[in-house]
Amino acid sequence: MNKNYTGIDYFRFIASLLIIAIHTSPLTSFSETGDFILTRILARVAVPFFLMTSGFFLISRYAYNDNKLWIFVKKTDLIYGSAMLIYIPINLYNGYFGMDNLLPNIIKDIVFDGTLYHLWYLPASILGAVIAWYLVRKFDYQTAFIVTAILYFIGLFGDSYYGVAEKIGVLGGFYNLIFQISDYTRNGIFFAPIFFVLGGLIADNRRKNEFRKSICGFSISFALMFIEALILHFCNLQRHDSMYIFLLPCMYFLFNIILHFRGKRIKWFRTLSLIIYIIHPIMIVVIRLFAKLLHLEGLLVDNSVVHYIMVCLSSVAFGTAVTVLWTKYRPKKVMYDSATDRAYIEIDLNNLEHNVRTLKKAMPPKCRLMAVVKAQAYGHRAYEISTHLEKIGVRSFAVATIDEGISLRKYGIRSEILILGYTSIYRASELKKYNLTQTLISFEYADALNRQGVMVKAHIKIDTGMHRLGISSDDFSDIKKVFAMKNINVCGVFTHLCCSDSSMPDDIAFTRGQIDDFYNLIDNLKESSISIPKLHIQSSYGFLNYPELKCSYVRTGVALYGVKSLPDDNIELQFDLRPVLSLKSQVVLIRQIEKGDTVGYGRRFIAERNSRIAILPIGYGDGFPRSLSDGNGKVLIDQYIVPVIGRICMDQLAVDITDTEDIAVGDIATLIDTEGCTELSADVVAKNSGSISNELLCRMGVMKNKLCKCIIPKNK
Ligand SMILES: *Cc1c(COP(=O)(O)O)cnc(C)c1O
Repeated sequence: MNKNYTGIDYFRFIASLLIIAIHTSPLTSFSETGDFILTRILARVAVPFFLMTSGFFLISRYAYNDNKLWIFVKKTDLIYGSAMLIYIPINLYNGYFGMDNLLPNIIKDIVFDGTLYHLWYLPASILGAVIAWYLVRKFDYQTAFIVTAILYFIGLFGDSYYGVAEKIGVLGGFYNLIFQISDYTRNGIFFAPIFFVLGGLIADNRRKNEFRKSICGFSISFALMFIEALILHFCNLQRHDSMYIFLLPCMYFLFNIILHFRGKRIKWFRTLSLIIYIIHPIMIVVIRLFAKLLHLEGLLVDNSVVHYIMVCLSSVAFGTAVTVLWTKYRPKKVMYDSATDRAYIEIDLNNLEHNVRTLKKAMPPKCRLMAVVKAQAYGHRAYEISTHLEKIGVRSFAVATIDEGISLRKYGIRSEILILGYTSIYRASELKKYNLTQTLISFEYADALNRQGVMVKAHIKIDTGMHRLGISSDDFSDIKKVFAMKNINVCGVFTHLCCSDSSMPDDIAFTRGQIDDFYNLIDNLKESSISIPKLHIQSSYGFLNYPELKCSYVRTGVALYGVKSLPDDNIELQFDLRPVLSLKSQVVLIRQIEKGDTVGYGRRFIAERNSRIAILPIGYGDGFPRSLSDGNGKVLIDQYIVPVIGRICMDQLAVDITDTEDIAVGDIATLIDTEGCTELSADVVAKNSGSISNELLCRMGVMKNKLCKCIIPKNK
């Protein structure tokens, strides 16, 4: 994703000046119509723009949990609370606290209308964010858009189309009821949610920014909005003028145009525009007071243009001063990253994207990549990997368990998800609820699942020699029966090869036999006039060594993560796959030991010379195998590869740095590398630990979510 949101930064500033225009009517002294066009049509893009910006950064189909929303709500609450306090003197002056039914009115104002006219924006953005968030997360963009569009449509008839509603008796009554609770329909329920949804929609679906199309779309929809507004105005239908039908397409295209601008970010524009928004009504009061004192009312107040300019200048000056002071004196958090101060994994999503592209290119046309993301995506973190894969177009996933499948759904994954392993038949309704596809591991299992009375999507697994899961390819009549089961929707048939990684002639012959058995079975099914669903056979090595097979899917696990299982594996199809995961820690202590001293449990390391050792706070509790003790393991610090000495502990280990210079406390130590240090590539480290990279990487699944740092691809 592109991180340079310069366009947004600049437009924030423009939008805040447009909002001042709405509140000061700069053209009234000259032309009523001109002022209408400026403040009731043109400037009406400002508030939706702010809402969309919040939606753009906040709303996403993909989320690990609801934290992001609550942080936003808390922050906006804080700003709202402060703004209300600032305006109490003006409330007092206006006699606000003397109104009838004070308490209900204050509550109404706090929730919907704001305690001063412009403050409605803050509660609206809180309500709008919450509504949009839950709609997008629980359903999808389409549903969220439809629901919020209906809300907006209802709002329209209490706003700029009120004249129409008023004439229809029942409707008029309905809106009057609404106005008891909120003075306008331009609020957090009817107005704000759709702009949050649109912002999120643009953020989640960013591909090429089609600048010309956006310009074209904007011009047309703006022209239509212009006509719409003038008609409503001259027919005198408007009760208020914040909501137009064509405002929606207008904002959609405008936002895309704004995103087109790239360059250096000016982050403080964000604070500046917020402050201008909040304080400009005070500046209006100040300018009026000032004018009165200097007897310049004729110029500073009655001339609407000069008045507007003065309010803008003073608001910008005040805003800039506060922003500068704030940046300088705000309580500074020490830039300290608790996620990376001990042990963490780093996920390079660039490399993941590269692998997906490379694998897809090598696959037959019509064959889909099924991303195997079981065991926390081989330790890479299921959330980061699966959401990114879906964003770049992967539409099939495989997991080992139903709970992994449910987690993916909760992260926002909408693609098909195949469960490769066993699921209790008593969870059939969950399979249906989360739209998960179950592997049928035996005939008896399929039969029992069918009897649960819940329609379930399934793939039949065929055992062709692995003898783990599946119905034997010899049991033709059983397999045929499964197709006839009432509650089983057979969407696929597959098998698994058990020695496709081997280049031994016997193993190759065995694999060929498995493949033949599978296709014979399929031919027999065809002859019994069963319509053949999706077929798949190959996992990573199956594909790399038998790329000629034509299937509906390739189930890629280890290859997707860019590593071989073992360094010496021979592979038919050679291409450049790049490792995704690296494991890192840092030096926390360096100490000197004397010749003859020992290090660690069991005194397994005895110094043969005076030595320097470094302690790293990472151990087998973090997934780094204990079998890498006593020099089996190596670590990269600066440009040095140094040996692990003594036994690896649960959460720390020691390395010998006697032969190095300049290594210091705080230096990063790499234990699994992605950048071409072959001695530390996952397959070599795995081999040294007596295992394969699949297992080594899986172990990283013990890392807490926050101990994962992502390298995110830049927009091309
Ligand atoms: C785990 C698994 C895969 C993925 O295997 P890789 O060798 O990592 O590509 C494919 N199919 C099945 C049935 C699996 O269990």
